[in-house]
Amino acid sequence: MNIAIIGTGYVGLVAGSCFAESGNDVICVDNDEEKVKKLSKGKVPIYEPGLPEIVERNLREGRLSFTTNLESAVKKSFVTFIAVGTPQVNGRADLGAVHSVAVDIGRAMDRFKVIVMKSTVPIGATEKVSDIIRAETDQPFDIISNPEFLKEGAAVEDFMKPDRVIIGAEDERAAEIVRELYAPFVRTGSPVLVTDVRTAEMTKYAANAFLAARISFMNEFANLCELVGADVDMIRKGIGLDSRIGQSFLFAGAGFGGSCFPKDVEALIETGRQQDYPLRILEAVNAVNREQRLRFLGKVLKHFGEDLSSKRFAIWGLAFKPRTDDMREAPAVDIIEGLLKRGGSVAAYDPEAKEEAERIFGSRIQLAKNNYDCLEGADALMLITEWQAFRNPNFERMKSLMRDPVVFDGRNIYSPSQMREMGFTYYSVGRK
Ligand code: NAD
Repeated sequence: MNIAIIGTGYVGLVAGSCFAESGNDVICVDNDEEKVKKLSKGKVPIYEPGLPEIVERNLREGRLSFTTNLESAVKKSFVTFIAVGTPQVNGRADLGAVHSVAVDIGRAMDRFKVIVMKSTVPIGATEKVSDIIRAETDQPFDIISNPEFLKEGAAVEDFMKPDRVIIGAEDERAAEIVRELYAPFVRTGSPVLVTDVRTAEMTKYAANAFLAARISFMNEFANLCELVGADVDMIRKGIGLDSRIGQSFLFAGAGFGGSCFPKDVEALIETGRQQDYPLRILEAVNAVNREQRLRFLGKVLKHFGEDLSSKRFAIWGLAFKPRTDDMREAPAVDIIEGLLKRGGSVAAYDPEAKEEAERIFGSRIQLAKNNYDCLEGADALMLITEWQAFRNPNFERMKSLMRDPVVFDGRNIYSPSQMREMGFTYYSVGRK
């Protein structure tokens, strides 16, 4: 099938490459010329395991191409996916890019097409896009909502082996076309659920809101554990073994970040407000999350006092989670800003997010070549992202490099008793 994907970011690039990998002819469109130039040479501008190989192979075999020319991409395609960003602005999803590409798609229509909304958009936004397109063209089209559930860091795997595919359609024929596109990825039996458009839009928000709620729920328990002297990690194991609850998304820590959970929860809260139905649970989910970063920083201030001007901090992990270079809404950003504001100096290391960190902090922090480099002369280490390489470090070497062996573990990856035995002053989240 001929496919155009508008918006070649984490979602668009993964979707486009994976559709090409299953034999389709895919044109990925982006208005960022630099990005398109790089991608056309096979250079993937983001860190996503497994993605460069697929991009390179499909470019080479001629099934995948990149362009800034939306009009010709839409004309050459039968199915057009919209995968541009929907960032949060003042608590609402900013649909500026979605609406602008809808106008361009409408103007480029030259025959019947299927338009698929893959960006995460508030309830009713796909219908609005349909209205925008209709205002620009007399050509017939069907519109589908097909929200994306991939996780950064495992995006290719998630796309190739989805737990489920959601297709929101008003027209059974168009739903069948999209179902066909996903057929190679659901051969082992993952269900394809066909719903109406609004239900599909809402399913995406409900999934993210529920996962975010689990994390904030555990963070609240962690905070209470610290007050009453209990261990949140054992509680996690204790409840996770209950088959009604399950083990995932129960880790307490410095809070969630990323380009999806905070903004999607916020957008859903706004939808509730517009309907005069305040979503009280979700308001608490975001409030707990915002405070969790500050609570973690609060541990540092309790240890060192409010004035950090003579203190040097080593930071391990900047990306909002391991296996990505994405720092959108990353807890590390707020935490580092808090240290800098109080006069602290910061040396940080992240295996993949160095470029992003340079863009955000410039010369305000030092970026180290490896995780030991940034420990030199540090008064404390703050571990914020649980990259695999941080799990089993050389603790003796760490101690010999640090001025003071103090560790603030924002992801509970070390054992409190072992850390104490090795001579560290050790703080974690919700553990004795
Ligand atoms: P992104 O910011 O990585 O990518 C968006 C891309 O769209 C950028 O490359 C940008 O240059 C391009 N773009 C913006 N305006 C454009 C225009 N007018 N014409 C052409 N290109 C344009 O965003 P993302 O993380 O891929 O997210 C895209 C959507 O998918 C969002 O709605 C997001 O909520 C949703 N989503 C993201 C994830 C994720 O993990 N990142 C997962 C599921 C769903």
